[in-house]
Amino acid sequence: MATLFDTRRYLSNFDAARTGHVFTDVLVIGSGVAGARAALEAAHYADVTLISKRTMEDTTTRWAQGGVAAVTAEVDSPARHREDTLGVGCGLNHPAAVELTVREGPTEIQRLLDWGLRFDESADGFALTREGGHKMPRVLHAYGDATGRALTDTLVRKLRAEPRIRGFEDCFVIDLLTTDEGCVGAVTYHEKYGHQLVWAKTTILAGGGCGRLYRETTNPELATGDAVAMAYRAGTRLRDLEMIQFHPTTLYIAGSSRALISEAVRGEGAWLVDRNGQRFMTAFHPDGELAPRDVVSRAIAITLAQTQATSVFLDVRHIPKKDFVKRFPYITESCAEFGIDVSRDLIPVRPAAHYMIGGIVTDLGARTTVPRLYACGECTSTGLHGANRLASNSLLEGLVFGRIAGETAGRAAAAQPAPAGPTALHSATPPSPKTRLDLADVGLSLRSLMWRNVGIERHGDRLQETVEIIEFWTRFVLDKVFDTPEGWEVQNMLTVGRLIAGSALRREESRGAHFRSDYPGTNDQAPPQHMDLRRSSDGPVFEPTAVGSAS
Ligand SMILES: Cc1cc2nc3c(=O)[nH]c(=O)nc-3n(C[C@H](O)[C@H](O)[C@H](O)COP(=O)(O)OP(=O)(O)OC[C@H]3O[C@@H](n4cnc5c(N)ncnc54)[C@H](O)[C@@H]3O)c2cc1C
Repeated sequence: MATLFDTRRYLSNFDAARTGHVFTDVLVIGSGVAGARAALEAAHYADVTLISKRTMEDTTTRWAQGGVAAVTAEVDSPARHREDTLGVGCGLNHPAAVELTVREGPTEIQRLLDWGLRFDESADGFALTREGGHKMPRVLHAYGDATGRALTDTLVRKLRAEPRIRGFEDCFVIDLLTTDEGCVGAVTYHEKYGHQLVWAKTTILAGGGCGRLYRETTNPELATGDAVAMAYRAGTRLRDLEMIQFHPTTLYIAGSSRALISEAVRGEGAWLVDRNGQRFMTAFHPDGELAPRDVVSRAIAITLAQTQATSVFLDVRHIPKKDFVKRFPYITESCAEFGIDVSRDLIPVRPAAHYMIGGIVTDLGARTTVPRLYACGECTSTGLHGANRLASNSLLEGLVFGRIAGETAGRAAAAQPAPAGPTALHSATPPSPKTRLDLADVGLSLRSLMWRNVGIERHGDRLQETVEIIEFWTRFVLDKVFDTPEGWEVQNMLTVGRLIAGSALRREESRGAHFRSDYPGTNDQAPPQHMDLRRSSDGPVFEPTAVGSAS
């Protein structure tokens, strides 16, 4: 049945004849690792406008702790990195995307070094950590657990120094503009300039993930799924949205904002224990604490139910304090703020939504299914992660596919004429006669619903109920024309929530990050399939697609 999700093309009203216009060669939406890397590459070929909804530095990338996975050690090889990535991907990886990423990884690391980023070193070279799913130490980090901050500082310094890149900060992209030519730019809102139409020869979408759809999440407030929602409205193909990765260990103390306790802590030898002090992971997986994230998250959920506890604990007391503090200064400080001395006390943890594995379908050139539109970073489904992301592979993906998106879109912009430009484009949704809304309450209700029904363990009945509830809420949220980012974010979150729940409902098996208690096994009777979807006027059309078929 058609809902406002399916009939409403633009969230805001505008008229090209009356709105301010900006013209650029390449428009990049997002300043995280993917958007920044894309902009820096595109600037070799064309003029670039980079838009971020907050400051350029304020991204999910900035919060990354563990590091970047890449082959730098002599004993390691791209083949081993590829095997580990495929090993956790549960049959949904695209081998070509995996191969490309692991092979280009070392070049991207060298480029960061050339740009001044200093990764931590040991006596034998880089100080490498082994994280869950990696068969050997491979993860580079900087300032201990402040890798994201170091990476962001390096990239943003480059962005601000590049004369061909113009940054628009605190500027909200409401929607992608589309015509018969494909994507021709975006509709934006800035407190000072109001609505503007940014016309671009090519557009790169790098808007990040959607962790804020869940009550328990490691993601910062900006991760509201805007990129996926606007791509859906613009008609791109989306894939495997049901694959949400839950991070097993976030600090579970009221008021701690679910601070992440990096996987690297377990990589450095931490144990997971239950409320009775018993280690439990060895009963669930031969790799114990270093099992893939979905296995650890589910093991914790089961242990919590068995022990009737609200958290399990990380035990790092056997790791020399000076080593732990040096390696994890941020985590040590976060714990200390709540009176936890990591050398004496257990650290209470439980899982939280962490990473959007699926997203906008892109090919090896970062092209989406809409002409002139490219995408990279967490908002995409490149085929690298399959059904489960290998730890620390997402910063790597952002670097590799960011570079590719920048090159493909930059070259295309240099070679093709500008879009037809200010046309008769307009959007006019009549004012809604319905009641005013408590937007914050809608957001909170959605987060609780998603955590309860579309979290670590799912069931068909509850997924069906979730779709129905969200569609009901749509009737009085999607009919409104908001004039602030808070309203557009809630509309985007409802859109993405409905698509995640719908995809999870249709995948009638358990695979990777997606666990269905009514279908606890993986369907081995048929070749693995992606859950693709696209928009139609009758609602999302779900199209299971063979892995490896053309995007
Ligand atoms: C706590 C934490 C720790 C992590 N640790 C690691 C790690 O150690 N290693 C690893 O590989 N991965 C890690 N990850 C995952 C990784 O950080 C992210 O997947 C990655 O940084 C995403 O990068 P991105 O460029 O795609 O998006 P982001 O960094 O999220 O950037 C998104 C950009 O899009 C902009 N944007 C979004 N919507 C709009 C809009 N409507 N209008 C305008 N601009 C918009 C934002 O302003 C921002 O600039 C971690 C994630 C978290 C939350």
